Amino acid sequence: MNKPEDDEVSKFENDEVKCPYCGSTDTARILYGKPFFSDELQKQLDSGKVRLGGCCIHVAEAEDGTMVRTDPERYCNHCGKEF
Ligand SMILES: [Zn+2]
Repeated sequence: MNKPEDDEVSKFENDEVKCPYCGSTDTARILYGKPFFSDELQKQLDSGKVRLGGCCIHVAEAEDGTMVRTDPERYCNHCGKEF
């Protein structure tokens, strides 16, 4: 089993993702579930690098029977779209 938490923490370092709509790199990662609150997370929230998506993770069953997450992972601070 993968532990997504580990993966998400390691991804904090390289956090420049381009918005597919407007091309801005001013995008925030959307965190789901209950994040571990720390000074570092608070800083990222304040700077718009991270956005909280709430505690509900939406999943849907794909055609092959696997469960896939349907939530957007990113929020564009520039145009306000999620992707
Ligand atoms: Zn955008």
